[in-house]
Amino acid sequence: MTYDLEELKTKNSLLLPMMRTEPIFWINPNSGEKVEYPFEEKDISEAEARLRRFAPYLRIAFPQTEKTKGIIESPLIEIPNMQRALSERYGILHRGTLLMKCDSHLPVSGSIKARGGIHEVLKYAEDIAIEKGLLKKEDNYEVLTEPHFKELFSKYSVAVGSTGNLGLSIGIISAKLGFHVTIHMSSDARQWKKDMLRERGAVVVEYPDDYQKAVAEGRKEAEKDLMCHFVDDEGSSDLFLGYATAAKRLEKQLKEMGIQIDEEHPMFVYLPCGVGGGPGGVTFGLKEIYGENVHCFFAEPTHAPCMALGMMTGLHDQIACSDIGLDGKTAADGLAVGRASKLVGKIMETQLDGVFTIEDDELYTLLYLLSEEEKQYIEPSACAGFPGIAKVLSQEEYLKKNNLKDKMHQAVHIVWATGGSMVPREEMQNYLEKGKKFI
Ligand SMILES: *Cc1c(COP(=O)(O)O)cnc(C)c1O
Repeated sequence: MTYDLEELKTKNSLLLPMMRTEPIFWINPNSGEKVEYPFEEKDISEAEARLRRFAPYLRIAFPQTEKTKGIIESPLIEIPNMQRALSERYGILHRGTLLMKCDSHLPVSGSIKARGGIHEVLKYAEDIAIEKGLLKKEDNYEVLTEPHFKELFSKYSVAVGSTGNLGLSIGIISAKLGFHVTIHMSSDARQWKKDMLRERGAVVVEYPDDYQKAVAEGRKEAEKDLMCHFVDDEGSSDLFLGYATAAKRLEKQLKEMGIQIDEEHPMFVYLPCGVGGGPGGVTFGLKEIYGENVHCFFAEPTHAPCMALGMMTGLHDQIACSDIGLDGKTAADGLAVGRASKLVGKIMETQLDGVFTIEDDELYTLLYLLSEEEKQYIEPSACAGFPGIAKVLSQEEYLKKNNLKDKMHQAVHIVWATGGSMVPREEMQNYLEKGKKFI
């Protein structure tokens, strides 16, 4: 697809500020339109059923999932002190309830990638074992801890290109099952992530160029090998559906907390976005359940707003941040992506409510604020959603158009904290020091 940048600028008034790395807030004019999607509720249920089949295995393989009986899930918590602090910081009274979804503390790999990434590798393992006649869906999957399965999987390999967290999740689960696993990373990825992966038995290949290059090289390598499964962050259905299962789990948690979501009690969800798979999957799942009573917004760094760019121009993966002169450099390594997923952008056309961008300094500030107010420690990427509430509350036109104005005092806001519990203490200390300076 070709495009004329000057024409894009005329059509999209936010493009110029975006090119100047100013924070922007884009509202999707096509949200809510009725269209056909490539997935349906049944697909999410299947993914959820698969994760349940694997629970007895995961419970043994990863004892940290004992509490949840092998289900990899994170807490949903109220953060009233942070709510007050945000109201003060942005000068807008936040009424309603503010919750944080702590995917930062998902067991096994400590980020939202523990949803999609692990699901995809489990599916690959299940397909192989079933095809070989060694496993049936009715079996107790505890048998997968037996050595002959490790031996079977060692004949196969898994590969992925990653800025970090996806690599961690794919690497940890693949190595545990017995696969050969190779993680293709840009060499500026965090050292501790590379070290941890190597420690667990993954091969880490580093590329001097950017993430996109690492992915392309990884894909090429994997395509040469018939026994290798490449996890395609830019277009994988299995990743997407793994992320989407989060919605059903969230529904259950909200019910347990006695929180009602309906027309009178709308829900707003703020999701940090990289290539789009994680936040897109969660959004897709939530819209299946709550329809127009849930409003989903993505958050991106000002230097790498690939989803905002793809959505507002309608070009999706056909345009990259570098095409408009952005360098993609950000402390939010989980979000440092220059080009959005082709699969997800298309689906989000009618589901996403909006995208906003945030500066790195603000990410650090919010990280520090959260640690002070709530004693919660998450990584910079995971903080991107926090400014969303104030931004939405100041969108008069949007609130009016969606008939939300007189309901905001009973709205529920969920900030999706997408990662952080695996960050080494020293590294976290550095983040906090930085954030403290900006206060
Ligand atoms: C990967 C990641 C995201 C975004 O997920 P995408 O699927 O890349 O959009 C957000 N936060 C953290 C911490 C991540 O690692």
